[in-house]
Amino acid sequence: MKSRRKFLQNITGSVIAIPFLSKIEYLESFKNIKDRSYDGPVLRVAIMGLGSYGTRVADAMKDCTKAKLVGVISGTPSKITAWQAKYNIPEKNCYNYENYDSIKSNPDIDAVYIITPNALHKDAAIRVAKAGKHVISEKPMSINAKDGQEMIAACKKANVKLLVGYRMHFEPKTLEVLRMRKDGEFGKVLFFQGLSGFQIGDPTQWRLKRESSGGGAMMDIGIYSINGARYMIGDEPIWVTAQETKTNKEKFKGGIDETIQFQLGFPSGAVASCLSTYSMNNLDRFFLNAEKGFAELQPSTGYGPIKGKTNKGELDYPHVTHQTVQMDRMAEIILEGKQPTVPVDGEEGLKDLKIIDAIYSAIKSGKKVSLSL
Ligand code: NDP
Repeated sequence: MKSRRKFLQNITGSVIAIPFLSKIEYLESFKNIKDRSYDGPVLRVAIMGLGSYGTRVADAMKDCTKAKLVGVISGTPSKITAWQAKYNIPEKNCYNYENYDSIKSNPDIDAVYIITPNALHKDAAIRVAKAGKHVISEKPMSINAKDGQEMIAACKKANVKLLVGYRMHFEPKTLEVLRMRKDGEFGKVLFFQGLSGFQIGDPTQWRLKRESSGGGAMMDIGIYSINGARYMIGDEPIWVTAQETKTNKEKFKGGIDETIQFQLGFPSGAVASCLSTYSMNNLDRFFLNAEKGFAELQPSTGYGPIKGKTNKGELDYPHVTHQTVQMDRMAEIILEGKQPTVPVDGEEGLKDLKIIDAIYSAIKSGKKVSLSL
């Protein structure tokens, strides 16, 4: 791993070369390099669901300064043993899905990061909240707005924080586009295009079972375009229209959406036009068009490097490991009460769920659906 000093030396040239960079947000983005001299509070996290994304988060957390992986909750004993060895997790911080309520009496765990199939987030969040631990839930926060509201209520009642794994809210190029938009550098925003999709493989996986996923591509990947439309435009939509198409009725059955095109209307008159799909690769693009300029991020939400340009030139920020930065920032939110540029709390997750509910409803009725977020 590069030392912090060497890393900063390597990137200093690009700070000077790009005149429109926000130095504060730019420097903020380097907190993904472990600061070994840090001796402030550290968020001690247990990961629930030791699958593909859980592993990515655990690996990324090795470089965190303010967050530390200290525990696991899993239904697979062999994974627990392997994680204990790999991440140095003590036996007393290991739980399964039957006994994890007893995490309540474990003073060495502050938060649980839920990284299980979507439909399991709600019940897990409520149990974690009842155990008095902060909740971080992967996206989608749950599978509908009603469940999302229950999660928010449970966390509020237990006086714990509820955050959602919106890693793009901490990504430097994304934040720079938002700074430019907020500073009026693009002028009035008129249009956003969000394309989010990939070709899904194994037809037996949980993502293609409604009882586990709560839906199809929209829940999984389309949510990036929904969330992106909101943070790129910087406002909340007031209506939605949507159309669904299917090329494979056998694979995408039982309430699993394959491809949905949807449009969001904003109070200013700006419109977002988005595509969510499980049947096309190379679909990861945000485009913002405004009176005085534009911003393009492509790829826009993958693990990176994110690439971006605006009418003023390339966004020349270095790549950061999203999950490392996310977890350090979430530690600051939970332990220090800091506010991120774009929220990652339960209310933020709920807004996306309300839009997803409205998209499904618009497909069913064929009509424009009003939104009140
Ligand atoms: P995986 O299938 O790879 O892992 C899910 C894990 O959840 C399993 O390994 C298992 O872990 C646990 N689990 C508990 N109950 C079940 C069940 N009934 N069926 C399957 N697994 C179960 O999924 P991902 O890691 O890809 O996705 C998990 C969550 O993370 C989803 O909500 C997804 O949307 C989100 N995600 C977010 C990403 C992001 O960039 N923010 C990227 C990818 C996913 P164990 O054996 O330990 O119990």
